[in-house]
Amino acid sequence: MKQLIDKLYKTSNLSPAEYKELIDNRNSELSEYLFEKARAVRIENYGYDVYIRGLIEFTNYCKNDCYYCGIRKSNCRAERYRLTKEQILECCSVGYDLGFRTFVLQGGEDGYFTDDKIIDIIRSIKTSYPDCAVTLSIGEKSYESYKAFFDAGAERYLLRHETANAEHYGKLHPKALSLDSRKQCLYNLKDIGYQVGCGFMVGSPFQTTDCLVEDLLFIKQLNPHMVGIGPFIPHRGTPFADKEAGTLELTLFLVGIIRLMLPPVLLPATTALGTIHPKGRELGILAGANVIMPNLSPKSVRQKYLLYDNKICTGDEAADCLCRMKKRMEGIGYHVTISRGDHKSIL
Ligand code: SAH
Repeated sequence: MKQLIDKLYKTSNLSPAEYKELIDNRNSELSEYLFEKARAVRIENYGYDVYIRGLIEFTNYCKNDCYYCGIRKSNCRAERYRLTKEQILECCSVGYDLGFRTFVLQGGEDGYFTDDKIIDIIRSIKTSYPDCAVTLSIGEKSYESYKAFFDAGAERYLLRHETANAEHYGKLHPKALSLDSRKQCLYNLKDIGYQVGCGFMVGSPFQTTDCLVEDLLFIKQLNPHMVGIGPFIPHRGTPFADKEAGTLELTLFLVGIIRLMLPPVLLPATTALGTIHPKGRELGILAGANVIMPNLSPKSVRQKYLLYDNKICTGDEAADCLCRMKKRMEGIGYHVTISRGDHKSIL
């Protein structure tokens, strides 16, 4: 198996059968070997820097009904909220003073936020903080909407593909949503010129190794700037309440593989990873990740943006979260940097 890791390290490529073999035969010794290589590649590309993104969860209203997600339309126990533009700008102000140079606006697909409203928010942020990057993570929109957001100043977009296997996609989503549309959105975003992030949940219900192999091949083909992966974690208000969570171990293994597949990719150690294990995010960094996304949402709404159960940091001030994260990163020999943290290809 080590030869497969060596091959991936040298060529950034494996065949579908080889990916499958690697994933199915993983063990702790092999993982350590993979993580060593992944760290070497990460350090070659980004040194020991950890980029931070300030996550602003600005609405938990959603018209979609994804079976895994805690803010799905049918979860009537979710307490819904929206932030005003002023509240969003206040998050940015707090974040800027803390050293954040990227703001990620994430939310459900909320019709209240028309294109004009989103454009106004993007423009206001860019006017006040011209040295900062704005990332959107607001789901599937038309080409024209994506283009209008880009023209208003948004330069990055996160849209996880969730799974690259159409049949699996159908088991995670209602009929109204399709893998084809999701993929089309990602191609449109790339075409417009965004730095694009795709990604998937590890251990989502009905996922097989073959699904994971398809995810890896799709990622390689799309060649995104960012890849967000984290373990699936059940939420009690969803149809998947009783499903098993994904594991730390498999998530880390895939983080390592993705680092070797796309050496300069921006790879977050996600909040979900930090939720299933107290050292999840440190372990993510040590497996090849180079980004963390602390929460900048106002404390008053933190407990309401629950995509899954037991989400961490819902009771903390942004400053405390960041301060602890900085110490944790220093503890493993890495350091949080004040920077937009663009992909290496962007100069
Ligand atoms: N509406 C936006 C943002 C979705 S939330 C969009 O469609 O892109 C961001 C990500 O959280 C999702 O893409 C999904 O991969 C992840 N997520 C949702 N529910 C989850 C769960 N139960 N466990 C782990 N991750 C989850």
